[in-house]
Amino acid sequence: MIPFLDLKKINQQYSQELKEACSRVIDSGWYILGNEVKEFENEFAEYCGAKYCLGVGNGLDALSLIIRGYKELEVMSDGDEVIVPANTYIATILAISENGLRPVLVEPDASTYNLDPDLIEEAITEKTKAILTVHLYGQVTGMDEINEIAQKYNLKVIEDCAQAHGAEYKGKMAGGLADAAGFSFYPGKNLGALGDGGAVTTNDSSLKEAISALRNYGSKKKYINEFKGVNSRLDEMQAAMLRVKLRYVDEEKAKRREIASLYLSKIKNEHIKVPSVSYDKAHVWHLFVVETNYRKELLEHLEKDNIQSLIHYPVAPHKQKAYEEWNTYSYPITERMHDSVISLPISPVLEKPNVLAVIDSINAFKI
Ligand SMILES: *Cc1c(COP(=O)(O)O)cnc(C)c1O
Repeated sequence: MIPFLDLKKINQQYSQELKEACSRVIDSGWYILGNEVKEFENEFAEYCGAKYCLGVGNGLDALSLIIRGYKELEVMSDGDEVIVPANTYIATILAISENGLRPVLVEPDASTYNLDPDLIEEAITEKTKAILTVHLYGQVTGMDEINEIAQKYNLKVIEDCAQAHGAEYKGKMAGGLADAAGFSFYPGKNLGALGDGGAVTTNDSSLKEAISALRNYGSKKKYINEFKGVNSRLDEMQAAMLRVKLRYVDEEKAKRREIASLYLSKIKNEHIKVPSVSYDKAHVWHLFVVETNYRKELLEHLEKDNIQSLIHYPVAPHKQKAYEEWNTYSYPITERMHDSVISLPISPVLEKPNVLAVIDSINAFKI
């Protein structure tokens, strides 16, 4: 079986260093908001080219706390609207709605799967306060166009970087391209912890101050509560794991890129559409997503060849029961995607013979 993503193998590469980091935390006697988190925050801010980084509990909380922070700063309030791609993973949308704001779904560009700047402007109303763009599958959104629209209408721009650690846009890193960004370190992400974790990056010192308190019961000084905060902290153990893995994130990115370029140059099948890359270095290949009109057949074919594939994602957010109020809405590009995408195996530990086996299998697919 060619696995989709062999997490055990990925982490075993760093087993020695991870165990040493674990011991360091155990022996420190300090487990929440200590030196490991502080150091990781500094290292990750630098990696992203952002002034500040704050470790939080997970990726959903990272996005949610950005919006919550803007509410405390009176930049946003209940009922305001946030533009978000209709085809994103549900977490992006939950981060908006759980704060009492209204997600306004906008269709993606059918070739990049990212927000289509041409469709953003017509979705803007007097209540719009932000554009929450998602660098889906690991490819950075065209930020110049989005930042330009935001400037014109005085909107905040937030990046969902949960799939795009280390992606670049015109020489700058994802997480440093807008007003604020949310990252996930869920184990399967390109920078994955050994449990849950997330982070916010920003250059905005007042937002950073607000989130720094909000993630810790709304408190900056122990037992003095400025906001009705939450408990969403990156813990010392995960920060220590992430400090090890951050040292390898670029190397792993290079391996993913090698696999993607093999797939891109060698997959040749009239029924399969391979992904397109908009800018040099824009894609870090969290997922390698192909499209086909014959998904059911292709899934069966890959399974028969012992190749594990997944669907990201099978059901569009507006078709979920959780958002019943949107079930009758129509987003044709998004719906088509959800009916036709398949993610092929890709990971820093996928070996070349297996990559070639996937290519052979895909090329042999007939209908
Ligand atoms: C994984 C993911 C999230 C949520 O991250 P968690 O750490 O699982 O909360 C948000 N947005 C996108 C696009 C994701 O892929």
